[in-house]
Amino acid sequence: MRAQPKASHYINGRFVDDEQGAPLPVIYPATGETIATLHSATPNIIELAVEAARAAQPAWARLKPVERGRILRRAADILRARNAELARLETLDTGKAIQETLVADPASAADALEYFGGAVASYTGDYIDLGGPFAYTRREALGVCVGIGAWNYPIQGAGWKSAPALAMGNAMVFKPSENTPLSALALAEIYTEAGLPDGLFNVVQGYGDVGGALASHEVVAKVSLTGSVPTGKKVLALTGSLMKHATMELGGKSPLIVFDDADLENAIGGAMLGNFYSTGQVCSNGTRVFVQKGLHDRFVERLAERTKAIRIGDPLDPETQMGPLINKAQHDKVMSYIGIGKAEGATLHYGGGEPKLQGFENGFFIEPTIFTNVTDQMRIAREEIFGPVMSVLSFSEEDEVIDRANDTEFGLSAGVFTRDLPRAHRVIAELQAGTCWINNYNLSPVEMPFGGFKQSGIGRENSLAALALYSQEKSVYVETGDVASPY
Ligand code: NAD
Repeated sequence: MRAQPKASHYINGRFVDDEQGAPLPVIYPATGETIATLHSATPNIIELAVEAARAAQPAWARLKPVERGRILRRAADILRARNAELARLETLDTGKAIQETLVADPASAADALEYFGGAVASYTGDYIDLGGPFAYTRREALGVCVGIGAWNYPIQGAGWKSAPALAMGNAMVFKPSENTPLSALALAEIYTEAGLPDGLFNVVQGYGDVGGALASHEVVAKVSLTGSVPTGKKVLALTGSLMKHATMELGGKSPLIVFDDADLENAIGGAMLGNFYSTGQVCSNGTRVFVQKGLHDRFVERLAERTKAIRIGDPLDPETQMGPLINKAQHDKVMSYIGIGKAEGATLHYGGGEPKLQGFENGFFIEPTIFTNVTDQMRIAREEIFGPVMSVLSFSEEDEVIDRANDTEFGLSAGVFTRDLPRAHRVIAELQAGTCWINNYNLSPVEMPFGGFKQSGIGRENSLAALALYSQEKSVYVETGDVASPY
């Protein structure tokens, strides 16, 4: 199986390479085979990309917003027309089941391009009446923005970052995760085909050092990173020391609270979505499932029944519901957490094994795994595992579960399942998390701001909030009379 792109990087509207860069193999996680080999960006490639962006941005920012938006909406249409082909590429890059990538990945990027392409023309400044004189505000582009992606939602991440950036008149240099470099290149070609002028969306490949070089480049005005908390702290420190704008979308260990009165099947469906979708590699996953005592036993029994039915296997088979982990390192990390859970005394209620699938013996598969009798202090309840490992904890009282849910350094997401609506809103208001759900889990439509509290990040993606964060506000005072000068 091969998925070799025309070259490693996409700069100024064309593919370029520099074979001096460190090799960057692309591994298909289902088989462990190398499907492409790219090169990490050299300093020369980084300079070319930043310079292309710098040169192209001012003319783009001077276009009418509706004209910029039209190109984004055209690119959204192309993404949708090529959904099947892009979903396949994303499955090869990530190992995620094709039944997911067909509905969740290019489609979500297309939603972002369509939304921001449409919203930007209405995203206007203010008029401020000063009793004669007046003021107005302008929302201006920042200039060159850098996007740095994670590997779980590669094309979605590239779309979520580039769409608001470009809509507001910025240029972007995007560095995908070294694990999933392919689909951002496809997006770059699509932007060009849709009429985006050269230099406005550039893709450079590389490891963390390339991300660091981009984030500290003097021309760069803003960095938006999706990644782990330790990486976020490094990049935020760097951008802070250089007074650059920054958005940080980081990790989590989110609580999902199920009250006794919840609809059992819906709550289980939410918990499974929030732990097993994308093989558990979702930042907002509700990996601490708190179930109230009265429902707990029925919940875990039925949860295991439904989990048993999950079909693991060939990611390109439309019947497959769960693919492998992204790579061997992540596979081994998740397996070590399963070992830690057992050693800590949690009950391995379901899974925990490594299925050996015919034809996929070298793939990075792990069964969906459920621990019960988990306590708050266990490492599996405190640390982000980023794999298909659910911890079920039981609770008695509303106040108690709120305190326990909030007892974490993270604050990305939270969910509540209950039929008691006043309680749902009361509990959500107390939870320290940026993105919350009532009676569902993990849906992130582009219209809704997405981001974290506490260590889970700073800033927001999606919604009009993203347009604010990819722009700067200029205030203009306009005198309509004489200058009252004492001199
Ligand atoms: P990671 O932190 O290892 O890497 C993220 C990106 O940062 C990669 O592109 C990497 O090359 C780059 N990078 C690494 N070191 C860098 C440095 N010093 N300077 C600049 N760039 C650097 O994360 P990952 O393993 O790719 O992704 C998993 C993590 O991402 C999890 O913690 C997950 O929760 C988080 N995540 C968060 C969100 C969100 O929106 N909040 C979404 C997806 C994933």
